Formats: sequence, C-alpha cells, structure tokens
Amino acid sequence: MSEGPKPPHIVVLGGGSAGWITACLLHHEWGARGGKVTVVESPAIGIIGVGEGSTPQLKAFFDLLGIAEREWMGACDATYKLGIRFTGWSETPGFESYFHPFPGPVDLHSEPGFAQNCALRRKGADVPAHPDDWFLASILAEQSKSPRAEETFPFAPSYGYHFDAHKLGTFLRDWAVGRGVEHRPLKVEEVELSGEQEIAALLCEGGERIEADFFVDCSGFASILSQQRLGTRFISFGENLFNDRAVVMPTAHSSTPRPQTDAIAMSAGWRWSIPLTSRVGNGYVYSSRHISDEDAEAELRAAIGTEKDAGEARLLHMKVGRVENSWTGNCLAAGLSQGFIEPLEATALHIVIYTATDFAKAFEAGGFTPKHRDTFNRRIAERYDGIRDYIVAHYRMNGRTDSDYWRENGANEALPEGLKAMITAWFTHEDIGSANREINGRTPAYPSLSWHCLLAGYGCFPDREKLQQLPAGIEAASLEDVRAMLQACARNFPDYDPLS
Ligand SMILES: Cc1cc2nc3c(=O)[nH]c(=O)nc-3n(C[C@H](O)[C@H](O)[C@H](O)COP(=O)(O)OP(=O)(O)OC[C@H]3O[C@@H](n4cnc5c(N)ncnc54)[C@H](O)[C@@H]3O)c2cc1C
Repeated sequence: MSEGPKPPHIVVLGGGSAGWITACLLHHEWGARGGKVTVVESPAIGIIGVGEGSTPQLKAFFDLLGIAEREWMGACDATYKLGIRFTGWSETPGFESYFHPFPGPVDLHSEPGFAQNCALRRKGADVPAHPDDWFLASILAEQSKSPRAEETFPFAPSYGYHFDAHKLGTFLRDWAVGRGVEHRPLKVEEVELSGEQEIAALLCEGGERIEADFFVDCSGFASILSQQRLGTRFISFGENLFNDRAVVMPTAHSSTPRPQTDAIAMSAGWRWSIPLTSRVGNGYVYSSRHISDEDAEAELRAAIGTEKDAGEARLLHMKVGRVENSWTGNCLAAGLSQGFIEPLEATALHIVIYTATDFAKAFEAGGFTPKHRDTFNRRIAERYDGIRDYIVAHYRMNGRTDSDYWRENGANEALPEGLKAMITAWFTHEDIGSANREINGRTPAYPSLSWHCLLAGYGCFPDREKLQQLPAGIEAASLEDVRAMLQACARNFPDYDPLS
C-alpha cells in the first residue's frame, strides 16, 4: 500500500457496466486507505443492457480484483472468446472470412513468418498469407477448444469473454457493496455546480443532496454530468463511421457454439452473434441513412431464422464519437457518457477499464489534484482515436460492391490522417510494425499483428492472376512448419463446449 494524502470521496453516477467497473477499480485502488466510493443509479431508468463481448482487458480486470472465473462466469452466463471471425466483409476470392485473434505468446513464433509472407504477397509473390493459418487462437476456435491449456503447457493465448450485461452489473454491484462501496438507488434530478467546472452535489428525487470531492459520470449516452452540465464538447465520428443504430434480439442455441464472436456483413452494416451459456445474443448494427428500422429488423430475422412473432426486437440509437476531454474539473466521464466508437471490436468496456485505471494513476500521482489532467486527457483521446482508426479501416477496405452502403464506405475519403498513413504504408510496401509505431506511437491501440490480420484478411494484395513465383534466392516462411507447430500446441488444450 503506497503512502500519500487521503484519497477523495468519489461519487459514480450510473450503475451500468461502466459504473460498477469504475467503482470496483477505484475502491480497489483507494478503499483500504479510506477512500469512499458511492454509486448513485436509478433502477427506474435502468441500463442499456447490451455489450456482451469483451477483450482480454476484462480478464485483467477480474484478475486484478482477485475474482476467479468460477466465481463470476457461471453467475453471468459467460463463455470464452478467443477472437472475432469476420465473414462477408470482402468479396476477394479466398478471403471471404478471417479470424482476428487476441495476440498471445505463441504468436511471437508464428507472427514474423506471417508478416514476411504478407510483405512478399503485397509485392506480388504467390505465397500463402491468409491470417487463419498463422495464429493459435484461430486454430483453437476452429477446433472448439478452451483457451485454458493443460498445466504442462504454459503458453495460453490471451482471451476475453462473452457475458450477460445485466448479470455482470448485478455481480459487480454485489461484489462491490460487499466490500464497502455505498449504493444509492436514486434518480438524479439536478446537478449543483460550485464553479464553472466544479460539481458540488447531485440533487436526487426525494430532496436528497449527495456531495463528493470528485464525480464520475457513468450515466450512459445521457452524459448528465460531463456533456449536459459541464458542457464538455462531443466530437462526432459520424463522418468516418456511418452506423448509428442497432436492432438486437436473443435466440436459443441451435448448435454448439465456438468460443468466438461472429461479425457478419449485412446489406447496410453487420450483425453479431455472441454465444452465452443461456442464449445467443444477436444484433444488427446499421446506418439509418441506408436502411429503415423495419427493413433492418426483417433482414436480421431472416439471417438468424427468427419469425416476426418469435421474439421481441429492441431498437437502440448510438451516438458515435467521444468527448474532447474525459476529465473536466472534478468530473471524469467513463463508458457511454464518455464516448462510443461502435461495437465491432467490442472495445467499450476495454476503454472503461483503461480510463479508470489510468485516471487512478494520474489523480494519485498529482496528489489528488488535476496536475496530470491534460496528459491523461491526451492519452485517453489517443486511445479512442487509435481504436476508431482501426475500426474505420474495416469499412474503408471492404471489398463489397452489392449496396450503396458498402460502396460509399469503400469510397469514403474523409479518413483520419493516421489511418490514411497506415493504408499508404501497406500499399507502398513499408514494414507495418515500424509504420504502426511511427504513426500510432509506442503503445498503439492495435498491434501490427491486428493490422496484418485485417488487411491480409480482406485480401488486400495484388489480384491472384497477377501473382508471380518468388524470384530465386528469396524465401517465404513455411506454412507447413507453422501449421505443424500450431497443431502440436493445440493438442494441449481441452475441448470446450460452453453449453455442457
Ligand atoms: C448496440 C451496442 C452493442 C454494444 N456491444 C458492446 C460489446 O460487445 N462490448 C462492449 O464492451 N461494449 C459494447 N457496447 C457498449 C456497452 O453497452 C457499454 O459500454 C456498457 O454497457 C456500459 O454502459 P454504461 O454503463 O456507460 O451505460 P448504461 O448501461 O446506459 O448505464 C447508465 C446508468 O446511468 C443511470 N442513470 C442515467 N440517468 C440517471 C439519473 N438521472 N439518475 C440516476 N441514474 C441515472 C442508469 O440508471 C444506468 O444505471 C455496446 C453498445 C451498443 C449500443
């Protein structure tokens, strides 16, 4: 436990996933030193209740809090997630589908060969460079294996989870309250300021006034404290990302699911299929400029085989972008109140965890003053923008020609500079690892492995008929050797049936 000034009393407004994750992390950080955390939330307003896929950051969160998988996974209908399979985003023959894995230790051995072959194929050599062949996680997902290896094999891949968002919130609430976080189920009706950018208190239904030293706005898209009351500027990503709505509906399992999220292209967006132990979560994320709500629902129902009267569909509006500054005055925005990129890479809770953890470090390093606020805000903004660039690449590089939506995305020139630079680097044969560091910094939002998987996964290479044999003296990485190595590794992982 580090010494220092007494931590502040923090009030978190909102009891969705963002509110409880933030409360747990701040309590973990400062609770033992007398820091008090209170969560104020309105059960009548409720939570958004979507957001069922994670990155490995959620595992790091549970590990940090010392919560074992056996404690929370069953309670939240959770399953393992080794990565995302993208299907139908490209029409290039042989590249209609690819798997984006979470990078793990075994990839250190196979990634250099994949990058080498991508570089050769970018220059027109006829060498194998489809991402599915090169990474342990895609082999494990394909074979429906657990990401948890036998004890004798210490090189487990990184993995995330799928879970029920309502149950996750309830689990975290009970865990936090059991350890001293205060829970006030109250609706906030007004926010009292004490200065231009200082919140004094939340004025709640029934006349209660809740004061704190510091406030965290986890009030969802409403962004009651940050955007509404403090007037923090919202930067829209709408010109880069067209999707602004989603229609969601659960279905029963019709077969044993794989430990992966499926992201399948549709006529005006894409749909997810997320397996929980209790059901499959389905959602169609689309652009309301390109399809009506009714047609989107009908297209989703047709795709998942659900009749109109077989289950209720929920329509959600998405505000895509981020606040200019996550930390304003004595208020931090986290979760949907802070921003939302869109769910394609399931990064929202990832950013919540990153924001809360980084905030705790910055606030404490400044002696619980705003000394490091600007640096913190810059880092969070960079993380948002880095994720946005990677997600925009999925749309810009799509090879579909079958609808206005895909054609407009493919022709969109309103691209962030960093993304333009990455695409240029790919097509001008630069080394993608060096380009990524140069363009996106020393800790880029996505590693070069992810950029390789995306661009090679779409088949962004010269046309197949133009590919040539390798010139004498230049060697490609051996796919046979990599396959043998990965298959041998895969034998150390048990079968995984989330429904058993
Ligand atoms: C279509 C879609 C798909 C998504 N998929 C993913 C995904 O796969 N992975 C992922 O990580 N994220 C995903 N997300 C994002 C994810 O849903 C959110 O990041 C996550 O649920 C956290 O939401 P939140 O807690 O910020 O907001 P909410 O869940 O909306 O919670 C807001 C809280 O504020 C409270 N509140 C609001 N107003 C008041 C008031 N006046 N008084 C008191 N309390 C109030 C509410 O009661 C509630 O408790 C998705 C989002 C959408 C829209």
